[in-house]
Amino acid sequence: MSTRLAIPRKVQSDVLHASGHRCCICQKVSGLQLHHINKNNSDNRPENLAVLCQEHHDEAHTNREMSKNLTETHVRKYKIAWENQLDQLRKTLSTCNGTREIFGDDYWISPMWGYLNHSRIAQILTRELVDLVDQDLMQSSIQRGVVDRNGLILSGPNDYQSQHFCSATIYDSFNHLDAIALHRLYSAFSDLIIWRFGPKVIDASDFKKSHLRHFLRPGNLVSVQRGFYFRQTENEYGPREVSIRTFKNRCEFRFTASTQNMYGTTSISCSFSGHKTVTALAFVKSLEDKDGKLLVHCSPLAMGIGFRTTEEYINLPYSEEA
Ligand SMILES: [Zn+2]
Repeated sequence: MSTRLAIPRKVQSDVLHASGHRCCICQKVSGLQLHHINKNNSDNRPENLAVLCQEHHDEAHTNREMSKNLTETHVRKYKIAWENQLDQLRKTLSTCNGTREIFGDDYWISPMWGYLNHSRIAQILTRELVDLVDQDLMQSSIQRGVVDRNGLILSGPNDYQSQHFCSATIYDSFNHLDAIALHRLYSAFSDLIIWRFGPKVIDASDFKKSHLRHFLRPGNLVSVQRGFYFRQTENEYGPREVSIRTFKNRCEFRFTASTQNMYGTTSISCSFSGHKTVTALAFVKSLEDKDGKLLVHCSPLAMGIGFRTTEEYINLPYSEEA
């Protein structure tokens, strides 16, 4: 006489992602099941669902007399602790300042936002974000005439150059120190947006069509950390458009970015060309099923190099022992 209701696909995807497609107790990745914590199989609220491996799922359904029994309280405690830990880790590793905090400045390459979509970031800036940013950096950028009190960029003295030479960027319209101030300020805004809004961090384990289709919605902010393919247009003058994509298991993230927003020649000709591992912060514009593939069309906010993925970090102690 089961009145059990199927778990809605969106809820399944959200719960699996929140647990990093891992058992919330032992972090195993195979044989995963969604367990109803209060044993009510029709209570499909995300807070009542825990991702468990086969072994822990069996244990949660075993009624032993012993105190070792995996009770409802235990499972709930493990779920909350693991999800919070993972959420914090994802945010930390998606930001420059968080990554530096974990790995220190001695880390072989310091993470850096090499591409910043200044106009898009400016649209998101609120009083709260402007007040949260490092005030020394904010005040000196205002005094230098780089931005106004709302963080919006004031056009540089050589604006002509950045619009008419193909290798020139928004930074080239400022003098050297002003350009550095601008880059540091907008990098800080980028980190703040991540801390404040918590993007959906897309790991390798999320690249499944049936999962992503339900997990993502237009308007979602995502952080994708992977190998990307970059292809530049060949126009002679003006900034170049770069088409960017990454794919796995017939899931593909696509967007374009202008070289005008890249920080220096190294970013244009090296960091964001060919095939490179990059962290991309982007808004989802639409999802499209095409030729058996799921295309996620995005609009980028920032791209960085020198980041570590959450999965790399979780696996770190084990791989170092090996
Ligand atoms: Zn387990």
